[in-house]
Amino acid sequence: MFKIFSTDPVHDPIKKQDSVTEIKKTTCYMCACRCGIRAHLRDGELVYIDGNPEHPINQGVICAKGASGIMKQKSPARITQPLLRKAGSNRGDGEFEPISWDRAFEILTKRLSNIRATDPKKFALFTGRDQMQALTGLFARQFGTPNYAAHGGFCSVNMAAGMIYTIGGSFWEFGGPDLERAKLFVMIGTAEDHHSNPMKIALSKFKRAGGRFISINPVRTGYSAIADEWIPIKPGTDGALFMALMHELIRLEKFDAPFLKRFSNSAQLVCMDSGAEEGLFLYDPDSDPINLDLPHNKYIWDEKTQSAQPCFKQGTSPVLLGEYTMGPGPHQGKKVVPAFELLKRQVSETTPEWASAITSIPAERIRKLALEIADTAFGQEFELPIPWTDSWGEKHDSVTGRPVAFHAMRGLSAHSNGFQTTRGLAVLMSLLGTIDRPGGFRHKAPYPRQVPPNAKPPSSENDIKPNTPLAKPPLGWPTQPEDLALDSQGNPLRIDKAYSWEHPLAAHGLMHNVITNAVKGDPYSIDTLMIFMANMSWNSTMNTMEVREHLNSKNVDGEFKIPFLVVCDAFQSEMVDFADLVLPDTTYLERHDVMSMLDRPISEFDGPVDSVRIPVLEPLGECKPFQEVLIELASRLKFPAFTTAEGERKFKDYPDFITRFQTGPDSGIGFLSGWRGKDGEKSLKGEPNPNQWQKYEENNCVHQYHMPPEHQYMRNWNKGYLDFSKENALRQKNDPIMIAIYSDILQRFRLAATGKRPGAQPPAHLKDRIYKYFDPLPFWYPPLEDEVTDLNKFTLNAITQRPMAMYHSWDSQNAWLRQIHSHNYLYVNTATALEHGIADGAWMWIESQWGKVKCMARHSEAVDPGTVWTWNAIGKAESAWSLTDNADESKKGFLLNHLIAEELTLGGFTVSNSDPITGQAGWYDVRVRLAPAGEEESQETWPQVKAYEVPGMTLKKEANK
Ligand code: SF4
Repeated sequence: MFKIFSTDPVHDPIKKQDSVTEIKKTTCYMCACRCGIRAHLRDGELVYIDGNPEHPINQGVICAKGASGIMKQKSPARITQPLLRKAGSNRGDGEFEPISWDRAFEILTKRLSNIRATDPKKFALFTGRDQMQALTGLFARQFGTPNYAAHGGFCSVNMAAGMIYTIGGSFWEFGGPDLERAKLFVMIGTAEDHHSNPMKIALSKFKRAGGRFISINPVRTGYSAIADEWIPIKPGTDGALFMALMHELIRLEKFDAPFLKRFSNSAQLVCMDSGAEEGLFLYDPDSDPINLDLPHNKYIWDEKTQSAQPCFKQGTSPVLLGEYTMGPGPHQGKKVVPAFELLKRQVSETTPEWASAITSIPAERIRKLALEIADTAFGQEFELPIPWTDSWGEKHDSVTGRPVAFHAMRGLSAHSNGFQTTRGLAVLMSLLGTIDRPGGFRHKAPYPRQVPPNAKPPSSENDIKPNTPLAKPPLGWPTQPEDLALDSQGNPLRIDKAYSWEHPLAAHGLMHNVITNAVKGDPYSIDTLMIFMANMSWNSTMNTMEVREHLNSKNVDGEFKIPFLVVCDAFQSEMVDFADLVLPDTTYLERHDVMSMLDRPISEFDGPVDSVRIPVLEPLGECKPFQEVLIELASRLKFPAFTTAEGERKFKDYPDFITRFQTGPDSGIGFLSGWRGKDGEKSLKGEPNPNQWQKYEENNCVHQYHMPPEHQYMRNWNKGYLDFSKENALRQKNDPIMIAIYSDILQRFRLAATGKRPGAQPPAHLKDRIYKYFDPLPFWYPPLEDEVTDLNKFTLNAITQRPMAMYHSWDSQNAWLRQIHSHNYLYVNTATALEHGIADGAWMWIESQWGKVKCMARHSEAVDPGTVWTWNAIGKAESAWSLTDNADESKKGFLLNHLIAEELTLGGFTVSNSDPITGQAGWYDVRVRLAPAGEEESQETWPQVKAYEVPGMTLKKEANK
């Protein structure tokens, strides 16, 4: 009988009588969602993979990618041994000699110890879509280099930072829509990128329960295909829509005033007098600040006494509107207004008509949407009988549900206006009172955190010293100009210029600028660049052809401008060819790994959850997990955290490190939260347990902690939860996390730009930029690229999406998934295509001011007429990923990256084509035009690029024909 979600292996017709079959559980890594999977083995050979029904994330569901993991294992593109580029060969030519791991470690140890002892910032470590940033970040910090980040700067840092600087949490890993209780779900700017299987499961239940799903997106694919209504929007204009929705909600007085007064800074008083305090909250110098980092001792205007009162004082009646003068006391005579008054003024002109002209959504539809979300939030309000106590000691009998949920990701993020757009969404959600309430947005541990979290990046040369760990973590959350990573001359401390005046709140770094900056020597040159799992010479860079040249460019003395390039990857990507040293990584089925509470766990709404990978197969050839490489290097380089007091190696290997490492002496906090304590009896906090891996293995590779219901909602202000989070090191403090409708942090940067604030100031050429974009209230501005584009010539927007069946560039070496996508089309609205004389399936040109690409067209009604789009990273260099020379991927597939610029010259100076606040890459800002290809032109994509096979690849290319 056919059994769904059975724990038994499926019928195996070719199984021999004496075959040994086994099921091993681990965690998928065919995308970033981290579903639980079961690997079915026959006589030690992997025969198929299915979803683990006992796993909280996917409950047995598996997608095409997950099930195709077996073909990743059998990929002919696997690299199987360490490789050293042959002396005298050019980078990119793929000429390597195999070497032993001992030799590889000797080379690295010698080179890195020399850098560490002299100028540690000459070593840069940047990683792609890995899931171990707590380890890689620790490695960089222990090394002493600030030059570390993962891929967030070119992925979705605007989403993370925009939300975290506003509500102390973010979408996807750290929070999401409560579709179990929502009645209306608005998804905006989301492809099927993040949260794949969990979102599909939740959407299916939501729709079956009668929920209404509105998708706002230039393209109707993926989740949007099952939306009740699709509202096309012009890319980069979502912020204008949020401004208009806020305008409508405030105009109609349909906002949650009690929620805003109590739980946000809406009622807190902002100084309106010109000078150093202008636009900042006023503080009561005599009251206890509670949190010295981000003090709470501000004022509200009390309606009863008509005076300013401490903002948390019981019995007051704060107002949201008006303009006042401070009475007797330290601020006597100062003009003040509640922050909400400033928000009201900010949106006074952002009418639906104004937004309609920008977004292409009819004004009437915007008005109706505002009413729909308000009527659902307030008209369908409900109470859950869950008692809880707030931070001020008041007991509540229930939590209020506001059943409007939103979800957004890279569609909002990947624009140079994405931070303020995301702030707009977070403030809109706050007006509706849907933050950590049933039916709205809900946090996932370790969030919510302080607005913003307390970690700060290195902020002076003194934080970076030879043979010494960094004084501060390489990545953090600035709250004032003095937190920027600048030397005493005001120059960037980091190679990617993160946390400089160009991108002050670059919380995830700017990996997309590292190669160009290093080659230009701007702000300085480096010696060794180590890249893990990132295809920087192809789809992960904004100027593919130039970066490929940069990687090979030399100084007059013949030395490469980036002298040593280490690439660690499991597969022969386009990037591997450029390496000096290639370190062969394992697949996810061959290694231990952790999805840690110190990093990006898989938490659920009801409590912290972390998970692991446990090898189900031996590593192929000489492949070694990058985790083991880092532990080995850290031990050889004698980093303090990896060395005993006697100078001996502290950890045998990665599993041993995970079991025994603690964040501080006897802190009881380590990478894994489950089965801590000597006998595994403790959760979240406790002494190391030598049997911890075994317990994870016995429990579906997951540790799930269910919090009591009274800790599951209103967590920004829930005393019980905040005490719990402090006790278990999810936060350092247990003070309330107030929503920042108005960001005085942004205002501090603005004041610095005007010279009104004492302390650090931006250089002259960046003053206007800082002033303009660091608005303490959300606002919409056109993407920066518009400023340097002839919009009459390049009339269309062009965007990409990650295909559902592949994770970015990872899967063109996967024989099963190639059958779904082996090449991509440019999807063009039928009317637009016909207007340009482009037939369905015809060859055509797409051109921006930066470059052009020849590709094939596909007519579509599921795209806004002003936008064209394609799947990301299907196009490959010829022969890359072990594809044959004439594979569809290189002959018909194409990369939109060739049309995108990495840098823009704005107002006389050149900066990254990124958000001026966070440094998020502006992938989706490019403007293009179309033309049919001539009949005489070759029927293959252009440009064509060649890659090379490297020694030690497992199978002949023919296997992947
Ligand atoms: S959604 Fe991602 S993690 Fe889950 S099964 Fe599919 S590929 Fe694997």
